[in-house]
Amino acid sequence: MMEFQRIILVHYHEIGLKGRNRSVFEKRLQKNLESLLSGFPVVTIHRISGRILVFLREGTTLEVANECTDAILGVPGVARVSCGFKCKQEMDAMGRAACIALAEAEPFESFKVSARRNHTTFPIDSMQLNRDIGAMLCEAFPAKRVQMKDPDVTVGVEVVEGSTYVYARSERGVGGLPVGSSGTVVGLLSSGIDSPVALWRMARRGAVCVGVHFSGRPQTSDASEFLVDDIARVLQRTGCIARVYVVPFGDYQREISIACPPGLRVILYRRLMFRVAEELARRERAGALVTGESLGQVASQTLDNIRATDAAVEMPVFRPLIGSDKLEIIGAAQQLGTFEISSQDAPDCCTLFMPRNPETHAKLADVETAEEAFPWREWVTALADAAEAHDYACPAYRPPRARVS
Ligand code: ATP
Ligand code: MG
Repeated sequence: MMEFQRIILVHYHEIGLKGRNRSVFEKRLQKNLESLLSGFPVVTIHRISGRILVFLREGTTLEVANECTDAILGVPGVARVSCGFKCKQEMDAMGRAACIALAEAEPFESFKVSARRNHTTFPIDSMQLNRDIGAMLCEAFPAKRVQMKDPDVTVGVEVVEGSTYVYARSERGVGGLPVGSSGTVVGLLSSGIDSPVALWRMARRGAVCVGVHFSGRPQTSDASEFLVDDIARVLQRTGCIARVYVVPFGDYQREISIACPPGLRVILYRRLMFRVAEELARRERAGALVTGESLGQVASQTLDNIRATDAAVEMPVFRPLIGSDKLEIIGAAQQLGTFEISSQDAPDCCTLFMPRNPETHAKLADVETAEEAFPWREWVTALADAAEAHDYACPAYRPPRARVS
């Protein structure tokens, strides 16, 4: 049996700045963690002086503690995660806990101790703690050297009221705000590289994300829908996505491609997609739409075309990637874990009925005239009604009440 209880300390910076809202944010983060960590051997999750403290069950192995730490690192609102032990406020106990923590950090060559006291009456100050615990570690690890600047391992010692937390593993989290602290957004989610990153960025700022995917079905297979489901499962790991609506769009695209000038097709598809997304957003009581567009990346992402699509909806449209280069977005997708999925080929609605020369500078008047060739108002309702909802685990999400038709 291990002498000390394994704990994980979750630090959050930004929440600390939020003045009166602070406790709301802290509670939100705590609830999100409670739910996301339900598969781990967690005893309780407490809030203590500016930290969230995860107590792991007795007998939890280092491997499982590390997995749990990895799971927390990607959760929005988490600035830093430290994995170690709780011990008594006694020098001997702290030294022994520090030895175990440091031994678990192998392989390493150099280390230092970094102690802090959090409003406590503990008589030894942090400089002295650094020296005393450092001396105990030097004795236990004679082959290792102490190094103040950029050591391989920093042993953290946090003395708070009543107890002490000691750890050697400490890593930066994704930061941001806890999901559920910034309302709900509806994101247009293709199976491509960009839109999952865009949605994740909004989740990191605390928004509950609901996706809408336009499938080419029945004109194409449902392959893109499976990829979108895989993407949603990645976002689900950190509680970032609540639901994905899948809209069978193929027949409508076909109608538009028959009725309208080829150069304007893409914009007309997109205006219809935006309107359907907006209708679903209203039903979800969401406040904004999100896309993965980046300025100039493809024909539909010129300034003129962005204006022409935005004009179709009233809600604000957020484009978190508007100023990002493709390589940056790819890097973000790799970190997020969606890149491999998004790199697989699947015909979605956008590859269907693509014109050879899409208009890059659409004029709104021309677009609106072309649009009168089909009954788009009825289509928006029909498509929103036909949308199939797939639910994912998002602790902060409350689904809208079922609609009576
Ligand atoms: P992505 O990598 O996200 O697919 P993209 O580079 O392929 O983006 P476009 O196809 O022009 O760019 O799409 C721009 C944005 O429009 C996407 O980021 C996404 O938000 C939305 N979008 C495109 N296709 C679909 C779709 N089939 N379903 C839902 N949203 C879509
Ligand atoms: Mg795409």
